[in-house]
Amino acid sequence: MGWVARSLLLIIVVAALATAAFPGAQTPAPAAASTSYVNRGQLMRDMGTLSSPAFEGRGPGTPGGLKAREWIVGEFRTAGLSAAGTDNFLQPFVLAGSVPSPPPGDATGAPGPMAANVVGRIPGRGATRKLLVVTAHYDHLGLRNGVLYPGADDNASGVAALLAAARYFVRNPPRHPMVFVAFDAEEIGLRGARAFVSSRLVAPGEIGLAVNLDMVSRGSANEIFAAGTAYSPWLTPLLEEVQSRSAVTIRMGHDRPEASAGGLEDWTHLSDHGVFHDAGVPFVYFGVEDHPDNHEPTDTVERINPRFFGDVADMIVEALRTFDEHVN
Ligand SMILES: [Zn+2]
Repeated sequence: MGWVARSLLLIIVVAALATAAFPGAQTPAPAAASTSYVNRGQLMRDMGTLSSPAFEGRGPGTPGGLKAREWIVGEFRTAGLSAAGTDNFLQPFVLAGSVPSPPPGDATGAPGPMAANVVGRIPGRGATRKLLVVTAHYDHLGLRNGVLYPGADDNASGVAALLAAARYFVRNPPRHPMVFVAFDAEEIGLRGARAFVSSRLVAPGEIGLAVNLDMVSRGSANEIFAAGTAYSPWLTPLLEEVQSRSAVTIRMGHDRPEASAGGLEDWTHLSDHGVFHDAGVPFVYFGVEDHPDNHEPTDTVERINPRFFGDVADMIVEALRTFDEHVN
């Protein structure tokens, strides 16, 4: 290291000390300029509401699940989305087969408790285009043996981010029509997504891209994964563009067989995007790496890092803006 470099180092050290000594002093702006699109207070409040004891862990077909569904309908309506279900904002479907904890009082002999997706729409500007579908499941594990599974990260976080994005695009109309779906019964086999795709409420061929949000608030190392580019390589430059305007690190992967991905688990069928993928729809899945509180009673709002979650929600809006701009 030469003299000039050493002098520069001295200047940098002095500047750093001055900054430390005077907390009000200007610090350099982060390299990645990111824009704030979402109301972060509301984001955390929405996540707190859905994961609160009043919603009883949002088990499909349970009173807590029903309460969550009604709350999301209210938020879609207030945000100004158009109803796009089969029954106003709802797309009800029967939970056939075994259900972990049937609600008390469910009539015996009935086909099974009803579950329902919540579906809203924002019209696109101008010419008819394919749809952008944004999804997040609202159900979680409910109450088990009297223990509450609040599911804050899984997936109150995804629903809160979906609501933030919906509110943004109502105020800033997209080119493509957008459909926002809060799925029920993901935790017992992606049932809501299967009901949505097989109903042809929206034909798979009409969908340009499905963007699924599931566990988006607990990032170690400020990282979130974007899966789907292995199937749709055209998404990679778009996500690189998003990265240049985002404060979180976007890692692409978790979308190939583990053996060919250096041991990185294949998440293609681990959440609702798998159903779109099987129907031939390109997808992007945003989600954080697994953590020890996943599917545990300790998946609580207190363990969320609000700054990271806010940065992720802004990144998701940035991604949707970019997809809206570039997807045909
Ligand atoms: Zn989930």
